[in-house]
Amino acid sequence: MFENLSDRLSGVFDRLTKQGALSEDDVKTALREVRVALLEADVSLPVARDFIKAVQEKAAGQSVTKSVTPGQQVVKIVHDELVHVLAGDEGEIGSLKIDNAPAPILMVGLQGGGKTTTAGKLAKRLKEKNGKRVLLASLDIYRPAAQQQLAILGTQIGVDTLPIVAGESAVQIAKRAKQQATMGGYDVYMLDTAGRLQIDETLMKEVEDVRDVVNPRETLLVVDGLTGQVAVEVAEEFDAKIGISGVVLTRMDGDGRGGAALSMRAITGKPIKFVGLGEKMDALEEFHPERIAGRILGMGDIVSLVEKAQETIEAEQAERMMKRFQKGQFNMNDLKMQLNQMLQMGGMEGIMGMMPGMKKMAKQVEESGFDDSILRRQIALINSMTKKERANPQLLQASRKKRIAQGAGLEVSELNKLMKMHRQMSDMMKKMGKMGKGGMMKQAMK
Ligand code: GDP
Repeated sequence: MFENLSDRLSGVFDRLTKQGALSEDDVKTALREVRVALLEADVSLPVARDFIKAVQEKAAGQSVTKSVTPGQQVVKIVHDELVHVLAGDEGEIGSLKIDNAPAPILMVGLQGGGKTTTAGKLAKRLKEKNGKRVLLASLDIYRPAAQQQLAILGTQIGVDTLPIVAGESAVQIAKRAKQQATMGGYDVYMLDTAGRLQIDETLMKEVEDVRDVVNPRETLLVVDGLTGQVAVEVAEEFDAKIGISGVVLTRMDGDGRGGAALSMRAITGKPIKFVGLGEKMDALEEFHPERIAGRILGMGDIVSLVEKAQETIEAEQAERMMKRFQKGQFNMNDLKMQLNQMLQMGGMEGIMGMMPGMKKMAKQVEESGFDDSILRRQIALINSMTKKERANPQLLQASRKKRIAQGAGLEVSELNKLMKMHRQMSDMMKKMGKMGKGGMMKQAMK
């Protein structure tokens, strides 16, 4: 699975991670190669384009983390983006909704895509892994011996199949399967619908009728992964006409280009739930975006290395800040950071709304006229200070104050308020620092 793409990408990133420093051009060249590799893997053009764009933006916006090379950081960004394109926003993984027994599962798709094989694989899996009682039924009344084929498969894997009654329509078989599943106490019944070489109206109408009769918990499209973008188009069509809940990509064991897996979610919005990895009845795997991304990139160690480095840096930064605060070193830059954080958290209202019992206070704050515009004005005042003034707020005397207020287009009285707030916060931090040194308990017992 994904061998070609994986080889190509590891070639690109091997070179990139070996370099110490990276210029913007290095990254650009690498990403151009990634883009070509994606397109050659038959990933659809808009998906490849968005992918590269997202990586580029993230790479540009990220500061360099020490202890890892810029190349390693790029690998991590590409990895995260791969997970995103495979998983979509929810990041869910392949699992089936099979509550409320008997749960109907409808298998749809073109002929030869691997529908019947996958129905057998899934039934076996549900039986062995989930301990479910499964009933299989073939609704294929067109292909001679299709129903017999499923019956034989059922015997092989030890799963019951619906007895064959000659001359029934697909809808009649579906009704009988539902009845038998209910009376027989089955957890799941799977309906293997007829496929055609191409999507046609009669086929779709028949599947629609069956869908309306059984109201499936899952409608799984089984599609040949080797067909690349065509697989994605087929999924779009089936989804538009029937509504699918997920996709099973088959033949992912071949050295196929794998592009279908990468485009599917972005284009159809439907999750890949399983991948078929061979003809044998246990050659079915749940689709895990994280694992697949890891396999495509083949650089798991680098990804976890960068993750650790980022965590360490964040922890170090927080600790350094705390140490400075405890010494009473709380300057205007720190205050600005706090104000910005408050804005990011949804402003005053957002912060107070989050804290229990603060809803009432939030209202009072609102009535007092304190809103986000105050935060923004305060930030503007700090921006109007020189670097030196920000680091040493005690420098702020009358003439400087006037200049700063003017620079921000505000009154000196507002700056005075800001400075008072800064002093209060600074004192509070100092006190907390002392308490920390003496120990909270000791302080409290004095
Ligand atoms: P249907 O017409 O959609 O029901 O397709 P079948 O289930 O009959 O499968 C068609 C052929 O594809 C059979 O020879 C299967 O053994 C083969 N097949 C199905 N799934 C896979 C898979 O994941 N990998 C490989 N290599 N072959 C598969």
